[in-house]
Amino acid sequence: MVTKKVFEALKWASSYLKKHNRDENAGEWLLLWILNMDRSKLLAEQRMSLTEDQWHHFEQVVKQHALGKPIQYIIGYEEFYGRRFMVNEHVLIPRPETEELIEAVLHRINHLFPGNQHLKLADIGTGSGAIAITIKLERPDLEVMATDISQDALKVANSNAQVLGADVTFRQGDLLMPILQTGEKWDIILSNPPYIPAHDVLDKIVQDHEPSLALFAGEDGLDFYRRFALELPKVVHEKSLIAFEIGAGQGEAVVALMKEVFPTALTEILFDINGKDRIVLIQCGSE
Ligand code: SAM
Ligand code: GLN
Repeated sequence: MVTKKVFEALKWASSYLKKHNRDENAGEWLLLWILNMDRSKLLAEQRMSLTEDQWHHFEQVVKQHALGKPIQYIIGYEEFYGRRFMVNEHVLIPRPETEELIEAVLHRINHLFPGNQHLKLADIGTGSGAIAITIKLERPDLEVMATDISQDALKVANSNAQVLGADVTFRQGDLLMPILQTGEKWDIILSNPPYIPAHDVLDKIVQDHEPSLALFAGEDGLDFYRRFALELPKVVHEKSLIAFEIGAGQGEAVVALMKEVFPTALTEILFDINGKDRIVLIQCGSE
């Protein structure tokens, strides 16, 4: 029987991953998932023998990761805002930066719309559903709708909403089309759209494995914000909040685009923990 003890398997994984320029600690993460254990239990079980199946499965996933497959696509989930979101190759793996967008928006909603109003919030390009579902669970009183152009992404978002018990509705369509078609007006529009310039060189893991539909946005990465600027005035109430995640260095350009169509709005650029501009907030009708 070909198998290994826990410590031998981990040792093999860390040297294999190191040889392939990957994080040596990824092996532990994968073994925890295969054995369905927490870290302290794994540390206590270093001399336990893996079954043959467990060892083969471990070897296989370590090799997949060494070839570049993100761990989250192997194990099938990522933690976001303290909850577990299922992910697959059709959706962007939700990022910690996006948690900061949620924080900022929840705070502004309290401030801008105090009391118990019936507010409607839409998340455009929802991917795994991370933004829409988190907001709904944090603020169950809001009516939340989310869109994506990708039917495959919407399937993932829908499952996440069901598993997490979030009452979010989903619509498929190109940017604001699903709203424009109905003529409704919304109070809050959020989006983490694709914003990477077409020719940017990305980390190979991101470039080769995450959907390019979720990442790229024309020559300068601003294509989606340009389209938002054209379409947003038709879909928001006079008093409304718009919030975008943006790429580092895009803040001023995005604010300028929004100022063209909402000249009296209050705009803010927020910076992430690394000091990079990450979020643009536009408050209409509160001036
Ligand atoms: N909101 C998710 C998050 O923050 O993790 C995913 C963000 S990902 C950067 C952008 C999403 O926009 C992808 O799910 C992609 O399918 C979607 N998308 C791309 N082009 C779109 C379009 N024209 N209309 C609507 N959604 C689009
Ligand atoms: N934050 C993602 C990355 O750096 C990009 C997401 C996006 O384009 N909105 O890979």
